[in-house]
Amino acid sequence: MKVAIRDDDTCYFTAPDELARVYHDVWDRVPICLATVPFAIGYERQGIPREHWHSGEAFALDRNPALTSALQELVASRRATIALHGYTHQDFRGGYEFQAAPDPERRVADGLRYLRDTLGAAISVFVPPHNASSKRGLSAVGSAGLNILGSILSFRPSMRPWDWKTPANWWRVRRFRRATRRTKADRLVYPYVLRYADHAEFGCHSLIPGTTLQELTGHFDEAWNLGGHFCLATHYWEVDESMRMVLLRFLDYAARKNDVKFVAAEELFA
Ligand SMILES: [Zn+2]
Repeated sequence: MKVAIRDDDTCYFTAPDELARVYHDVWDRVPICLATVPFAIGYERQGIPREHWHSGEAFALDRNPALTSALQELVASRRATIALHGYTHQDFRGGYEFQAAPDPERRVADGLRYLRDTLGAAISVFVPPHNASSKRGLSAVGSAGLNILGSILSFRPSMRPWDWKTPANWWRVRRFRRATRRTKADRLVYPYVLRYADHAEFGCHSLIPGTTLQELTGHFDEAWNLGGHFCLATHYWEVDESMRMVLLRFLDYAARKNDVKFVAAEELFA
């Protein structure tokens, strides 16, 4: 079983110390997949200065040189990998960035080139901002050859771009729901990689304020029993000391299981 960690929202507004505070004793055990925003535009969230919540100004990552060099070092030492997390991560009137931006194809292409050039990182994974994407957004990501680490993307063929593998994947998920006695309303993170025509997808379990160790180990045990894999997703900016303890205890728990290998998130798709 492969176990990985994804952390979202590294961007111009991130101080390198914030990442170190959360992961200093984690990233030597498990590389952290940092889902990074190349040209962040502020929105209302903790950790972004209030004056940028509505300024609309785009901040290139390399305007924060301390962060840029910290990320280069983390990548070089294999403590972190970099995924593309949108382009600006801005919210539009009609939805989140990859639901409503008029030019998702350009955003993927430019964002990818910029992060590769700036950080010297090989990038093969896309994380949709707010885990949300339109059909066109999904097509743009797939055409660029990126795999998707998501949490709540729909499996329904009608919600996805046309792809000859979509119906079979939908049936797979349906069968899984039935086999695990879930109704349509029950939450589901499918524990295997789903391969589409031009990319693959894998779902993550969230670590957010209030998530308990028991919940995580319960989800983990289910995936383990089914011969699946597991990816935990969180946001460094909301990880306080008690969430950090949940993370550390979860990793200890996973490490005690047979056949568990901590990997970079990119390896989930290998
Ligand atoms: Zn995000």
